[in-house]
Amino acid sequence: MSVRVRFAPSPTGFLHIGGLRTALYNYLFARHHGGQFILRIEDTDQERTVPGAVENIIEMLSWAGLEFDEGPHVGGPYGPYVQSQRLELYRQQAQVLLERGAAYYAFDTPEELERMRARQRAAGVAPKYDRFSMRNSFTLPEDEVRRLLAEGAPAVVRLAVPLDRTVSFTDIIRGAITVSARDLDDQVLLKSDGFPTYHLANVVDDHFMRITHVIRGEEWIPSTPKHVLLYEAFGWEMPQFAHLPLLLNPDRSKLSKRHGDVAVEDFRRQGYFPEALVNFVALLGWNPTADRELFSLPELVASFELERVNRAAAIVDRAKLDWMNAQYLRMLPLERLARELQPWLREAGYPEYPLEYLQRVIALLRERVTRLPEILTFGDYMFAPPRHYDWEYLRKYWRPELPEWLRQLLGELESVEPFTAEIIGQRVRSFIEARGATLRAIVHPLRLILTGKSVGAGMFETMEVLGKSECLRRLHSFLEEQLPVLQAQLE
Ligand code: GLU
Repeated sequence: MSVRVRFAPSPTGFLHIGGLRTALYNYLFARHHGGQFILRIEDTDQERTVPGAVENIIEMLSWAGLEFDEGPHVGGPYGPYVQSQRLELYRQQAQVLLERGAAYYAFDTPEELERMRARQRAAGVAPKYDRFSMRNSFTLPEDEVRRLLAEGAPAVVRLAVPLDRTVSFTDIIRGAITVSARDLDDQVLLKSDGFPTYHLANVVDDHFMRITHVIRGEEWIPSTPKHVLLYEAFGWEMPQFAHLPLLLNPDRSKLSKRHGDVAVEDFRRQGYFPEALVNFVALLGWNPTADRELFSLPELVASFELERVNRAAAIVDRAKLDWMNAQYLRMLPLERLARELQPWLREAGYPEYPLEYLQRVIALLRERVTRLPEILTFGDYMFAPPRHYDWEYLRKYWRPELPEWLRQLLGELESVEPFTAEIIGQRVRSFIEARGATLRAIVHPLRLILTGKSVGAGMFETMEVLGKSECLRRLHSFLEEQLPVLQAQLE
């Protein structure tokens, strides 16, 4: 039987890295086995549904390179893939359970349920629907139930959890899990407004969509025994289950916005590469080999094994993501990086630059930054003359002969041809040797004058990329405009 897995988000907000990890593991498993990867939108909790969330989820997963075989945006033979469009099916299936005695009607009002919970709190027992003291098919006479239903009284359908038995399933990652049915609640399956709850819709859809493996976060483990009971009551074959380890902050608290961004969109906005984010997220709970950390999506597909996913929670270490992103920045082709830098330039209000120039700038600076858009802040001087100078730094290298040297150097540089790092270097070196000083005495001031900063890539390489006329222009305007101000301050 061909593998079919689904990513089944509730559209309650932005896609988070936890969601991306779940989607990715489903994707890797499907592709590894030549199966299908399906998107299903679980929007039965209409109050929590956020407009635009479905579009965000689809957009982020496509940015990450995870293509679906079936889903609301691509169609497929088992649709519709949005639960709010399948309500009739859930109603029919709830009816099947009622007929088999695996589910029952309950008529309790919210106030009655609240009083029940208050009684339980007072008695110090765990809150759980008390089938035998409330108003339902167990406690009311049959004709009373019929009358209430005929009158259209608000009614829910609840799962009739068997009283005395255990419920077991095998988790691919965690092994055998057994719970006592006593610990399970008579879960609401169908609400009084005709909407199913997560449990009913999830099981019905996994069955009718022919899902073979349910791969989801560990927080769903407590729900699985209820699902097992539903599969049994329906007489359906169960999918296999695999629950993925929790994601934690470095301080072992639950992953949250307080510790930094968690939405995939935020990472995209900060200029992380999808390849890096996918690589990072893939290793949250699994590692193909102990001696490597950089893997492409096809490599991850080739080696993915659910059996080897860890049980222990995975720590989300953002420093590692930065490291990975920096590695991708060094590896990805310059043509692509130059194209991707263009919108960032535009957004920052810089003029258009030829792609060829952008490639040279990126090649010059990419080993010094973590994310592509940082090129624009770290290397702002590659796109506009410096507006601020680190005067303190210049003061350190100040000497009375400097103004004269700079004037002479300007003349010297005019005759450098071709204007390459090598030749510039040779000329500056002999220039400074002839004056009995060290290279630093001129290179540091020069860096400041041309870039405004005290750090950057190799000075001569930077000059080569900036180009001769730009270097001369900047040196010239410094001598004309900035130097007199500085001298006045120093003298
Ligand atoms: N709708 C659930 C969620 O938001 C799906 C859980 C599952 O995969 O069964 O995560």
